[in-house]
Amino acid sequence: MSVIVQKYGGSSVGDLTRIGRVADRVVAARQDGHEVVVVVSAMGKTTDQLLAMAREVSDAPPRRELDMLLSVGERITMALLAIALQQRGADAISFTGSQSGILTNDRHFDARIIEVRPYRIEDELARGRVVIVAGYQGMSYRREITTLGRGGSDTTAVALAAALRADRCEIYSDVDGVYTADPRVVPGARHLPALGYVELQEMAESGAKVLNAEAVAFAKRERIQIHARRTDDAHGAAGARETVVRAEVAPSPRRVRAVVGDADVAWVRGAADHPAGFDGLLALAAETGVPLRAAEWTSAGASAWVSLPRVPDWDRAAAALASAGLTVLDPRSSDAVACVSVVGDGLTEDGGVLRDVLSVARAEGCAPRSVSSTPFRITLAVPRASADPLTRALHGRFCEG
Ligand code: ASP
Ligand code: MG
Repeated sequence: MSVIVQKYGGSSVGDLTRIGRVADRVVAARQDGHEVVVVVSAMGKTTDQLLAMAREVSDAPPRRELDMLLSVGERITMALLAIALQQRGADAISFTGSQSGILTNDRHFDARIIEVRPYRIEDELARGRVVIVAGYQGMSYRREITTLGRGGSDTTAVALAAALRADRCEIYSDVDGVYTADPRVVPGARHLPALGYVELQEMAESGAKVLNAEAVAFAKRERIQIHARRTDDAHGAAGARETVVRAEVAPSPRRVRAVVGDADVAWVRGAADHPAGFDGLLALAAETGVPLRAAEWTSAGASAWVSLPRVPDWDRAAAALASAGLTVLDPRSSDAVACVSVVGDGLTEDGGVLRDVLSVARAEGCAPRSVSSTPFRITLAVPRASADPLTRALHGRFCEG
């Protein structure tokens, strides 16, 4: 029998009615003759609420205790879904991440999966049961409970799909896949029926709130095909769209596939004569538990970017970086910056795309604070207020018409 892994995001399991609807879908997949593993997120905004509670108690909650707290969100959903399935006469059992054999490193709040030993899941599937797994969590080799970074239920789903050699991994949410830009910012954003791993990974790492970046990296490594769909679309229903993520996708004739804005970032800089130098900046970031999205050194100084959702205790970390003499710009700063990235393939083949990006920025009256480019991404750091208009203008230039 073929195994499929289905993952349901927070809004798809936001209340009991929706959990019931998910149960109906799982029953249908089972009746189609699949062995089904269901990975669930925490209900609605539960994770944000738990995090806010911890931050009310302390401005720097210990990350170990945050993991104990946040991992509860997914446990609530997994148990309720298993109950709903049994109520429908389906044989189902729920497992936490550690029961599912998801082993991680010991980095709390942002752990990485190092191995999956899904023996218990395989046993239960062989007994004919549907297995529900709490997403976003694992157990470190020190037997500590860890979480996998925000949006980490995607990672759980892809990792399990790989370990179980599943036929496919279906990711359900309130959107029908991936768009050329965030439709809330760019009204003309277009749906992408197919997308390559590299482009999606660049989008996720640029801050697109689509799939978790680590999940895409995992899928790329293990060659897992991902189907991103809307939960409310009945399978095969007329007009239902999806995005399929896989290795081979015809290159976009325009080279640019998507435009991504991200204001949830901090920019950390050290002057050229900063005594600690580039190594010092990197060492300090590691010491304060701040993962860097990108870092660069030139003779003018060192600079690094931080994705803020990855740092639960940013206030403490920012204070430590600032007291070491580094300049820290974050969303609270009066001159806060945001990143706007153009994602695609072959972007630096000739200077044409880069030149067009700069001329669009100029026409928008937007003076970038920094510009960087690789064949897959061009990123501009711009004043926060110009990020959305620039995103729309770049999308208009490269992805519309
Ligand atoms: N509940 C976690 C979060 O909100 C994980 C997930 O939803 O994938 O980040
Ligand atoms: Mg969530």
